[in-house]
Amino acid sequence: MTSNDPEERVAAPAPAPPGVAAPPSAPSPAPPSAPASASAPAPAPAPASTPAPPPSSAPPGGGAGLPALRGHNTALVLGLLRSAGPAGVSRLELAAHTGLTPQAVSKITARLRADGLAAEAGRRASTGGKPRTVLCLVPEARYAIGLHLDRDELTAVLTDLAGRAVAERTAPLDFGAGAPAVLDTVAAQLAALPDEARSSRVLGVGAACPGPLDHTAGVLRRVTGFPDWDGFPLRAALAERLGLPVVLDKDTNAAALGLAQCEPDGRGSFGYLHLGTGLGAGLVLGGALYRGARTGAGEFGHQVLQLDGPRCGCGKRGCVEALCLDRAARGEPAEAARILGTAAANLVELLDIDRVLLGGRTVLARPDTYVRGVADALAEQARVRGDGRTSAVPVALAAGGARAVADGAAHLVLAPLFGAPGTPFGAATAAGLR
Ligand SMILES: [Zn+2]
Repeated sequence: MTSNDPEERVAAPAPAPPGVAAPPSAPSPAPPSAPASASAPAPAPAPASTPAPPPSSAPPGGGAGLPALRGHNTALVLGLLRSAGPAGVSRLELAAHTGLTPQAVSKITARLRADGLAAEAGRRASTGGKPRTVLCLVPEARYAIGLHLDRDELTAVLTDLAGRAVAERTAPLDFGAGAPAVLDTVAAQLAALPDEARSSRVLGVGAACPGPLDHTAGVLRRVTGFPDWDGFPLRAALAERLGLPVVLDKDTNAAALGLAQCEPDGRGSFGYLHLGTGLGAGLVLGGALYRGARTGAGEFGHQVLQLDGPRCGCGKRGCVEALCLDRAARGEPAEAARILGTAAANLVELLDIDRVLLGGRTVLARPDTYVRGVADALAEQARVRGDGRTSAVPVALAAGGARAVADGAAHLVLAPLFGAPGTPFGAATAAGLR
């Protein structure tokens, strides 16, 4: 809980907590073998082609410390400043909403202003007293980079502190070409982003990939369709290549985290269903991203709907992913949507979520068809249940369109700074102290 001690901080220098790879200590990664050798064991030692870190091991941005970003209370204040937008918020309002004393708020905001993260946004009349100075976040004070590594395409975004994309790039990507080629593509696209992407104001990189993977260790598992990535430390490899702290998560988790930042009350529950080159779910329960104990939650695409169905890329038969993608490939989007809706209804039965959000390239190609198909399945579910609900669980397209995952990947870096639930606060500390 909150305390009134604005000096709450961790001892510096802080070690990188689970979830963030600090570039200087990143081990040499080993690339996966070629896709043809599906039975390859653990990755081999790093080959000579794996580039060495720069001699100084310093991030290209200079690694300036951000003491103002330390502490849970600072995160609370930053979160309120972000929510207030350009209109700003007064110190008294910050105190009222955080439970901190006005003196504590003043110390925190003074530090934030000294670091350029907050600025005065004018004065606002108050009842019975002198006008109050309001403060606002300075969005361009820091940046984050979001990467969506899809099976055949890379999207890179540069976002400001408020989470707004200020630049975006997309490029073809062959996720099966092996680590050196994938890292080259990522580095080339980041080099083509505006100069801000290489400034000391960049906090880090959020990288989102198809699952399964281990978010805590930053290691890929047997990615469906590309099992040779199994065991590859992609987070460390990216940190070493890019010279920036990196957070790695599943594409669906990244998108759900980004969408959760837009939730008005911040406590709702929803499932984000991503149907693109694969099918997965990102789960936000009670306002917090739910990853499961081993980042295994949300493997929504591999629930079996048909016991003797077609073979899925995961090795099982009749998974909803295989059924959906098969129908979509045959040009039967309505049937694919009906299948997706059946699985979505299963998810609603299991978790009693408030909303279902849809995204991913396959959905975005026929958005009305997929929203209608899932809505019909949820309406039928509500009718059959007859449990007194007046309406079915609503379904909608997720905000962000084709960029939802990349935007969400940037939030992997940003969200902990604002104390978002489901994000390790230590990640904010590491980003601030690098
Ligand atoms: Zn499967």
